[in-house]
Amino acid sequence: MARQQQEISGETVAEAAATAGSGFVDDTRDCEARENAHRERGTARPITVVGNPVLHKECRQVTSFDDELASLIDDMFASQRAAEGVGLAANQIGVDLKVFVYDCVDDEGVRHVGAVCNPVLDELPAANRSLDDSNEGCLSVPGAYEALARPDYAVVRGQDAEGKPIAVEGTGYFARCLQHETDHLYGYLYIDRLSKRERKNALRQMAEGTPRYETVPNE
Ligand SMILES: [Zn+2]
Repeated sequence: MARQQQEISGETVAEAAATAGSGFVDDTRDCEARENAHRERGTARPITVVGNPVLHKECRQVTSFDDELASLIDDMFASQRAAEGVGLAANQIGVDLKVFVYDCVDDEGVRHVGAVCNPVLDELPAANRSLDDSNEGCLSVPGAYEALARPDYAVVRGQDAEGKPIAVEGTGYFARCLQHETDHLYGYLYIDRLSKRERKNALRQMAEGTPRYETVPNE
């Protein structure tokens, strides 16, 4: 997901977070050191953009939690940093595998760094759901931002790089990130959730700009 352009507007409600209980991975410790280590081992790769087939279909499950996966995750952190993103899915560097990385702050300004394989979002009861209609952007739709209402709390379950089951919870902007990145791995971009007019507007913003990072040209 692209770095936010505007401040979050409207209220965010973290009550659900407070009552969700424990069992979530602590992805807030040693963020600086962990993110550094990943991207120093990795190599930044160019980013795929809307229209590239790899972005528009469900990715394959991760089944081998091996060195190859670890090195993919390193490359994803390097690519995320090079493109100044706060989240990146594997198909955004052309890899058809269900894994995403993130380096994102929540609604209290706390930084979260991690990787999730085979993510599945928890269904939240509609009654507990509070929508946040902040702007959203995507490294695969460079230069475009559109407001998109999403729940301001999210829980994603999956596996870490070693295959251990994990759950990650997010509030505010980080909740948006978890939903955005999981969507990617099922073949959806945030512009697929916009109205026709908003989608067109996003694509026009993209066409009018020049990405500040390397992209994969579409055929
Ligand atoms: Zn994206």
